[in-house]
Amino acid sequence: MSSQRISRLISLIVPVLNEQDAIAPFLRRVIPCLEEAARRIGEGGTYEIVFVDDGSTDATLAALSAERRNNSAVKVVVLSRNFGKDAALAAGMNYALGDAVIPIDVDLQDPPEIIPLLVDNWLEGAKIVNALRADRRADTALKRLTARAFYSAYNQMAERPIPAEVGDFRLIDREVIDVLKLLPERARFMKGLVSWVGFPTQEVPVVREKREAG
Ligand code: UDP
Ligand code: MG
Repeated sequence: MSSQRISRLISLIVPVLNEQDAIAPFLRRVIPCLEEAARRIGEGGTYEIVFVDDGSTDATLAALSAERRNNSAVKVVVLSRNFGKDAALAAGMNYALGDAVIPIDVDLQDPPEIIPLLVDNWLEGAKIVNALRADRRADTALKRLTARAFYSAYNQMAERPIPAEVGDFRLIDREVIDVLKLLPERARFMKGLVSWVGFPTQEVPVVREKREAG
């Protein structure tokens, strides 16, 4: 295939708030998955890992700087204070150069082994590939209850509903990112906006895990 000669970059976007102990285990587990995804893209397949430090007050930034010195795929965006996860994701999306962007939590609740599957669906033409939470057993009963109440209220008001099982862990094509960047919203609810813009979407089931550190 001639398209395999075009260089294609995957950007992982990782918002972090006070996660000094989570960063090293995260990278250890995620890098082999990104290597596998790059192999599936073929020649020119590559990746970057964009951490967004969302106003951490522990040694998160020092840990990120050390990782960046060892690995040129690691990029670090530093916010001036804590803005919250959605704002951190938006900052990461503005910075990322990828042809596809994948937001992911650093606590390994989103299993990174799914990344090659997300990329497979993208290579087959999907513009958004959602990781569907098939199973929330690892979340607490309170978290499950509040999540269910939230999605039910949101979906009653929303022009385009979002499935309760979709999190921020998903693959988003560059075309969608560029549309999202045109939206005037400042306080972003990323899950809602990604669904609202409307693009061919695929779904991949995942099981959400327990928080690894912190
Ligand atoms: N996070 C962030 N800013 C915040 C809160 C959280 O960047 O104000 C990051 C956090 O470090 C993690 C991700 O967002 O990588 C998800 O956070 P958490 O695990 O606390 O959320 P939950 O699993 O409850 O959705
Ligand atoms: Mg978590």
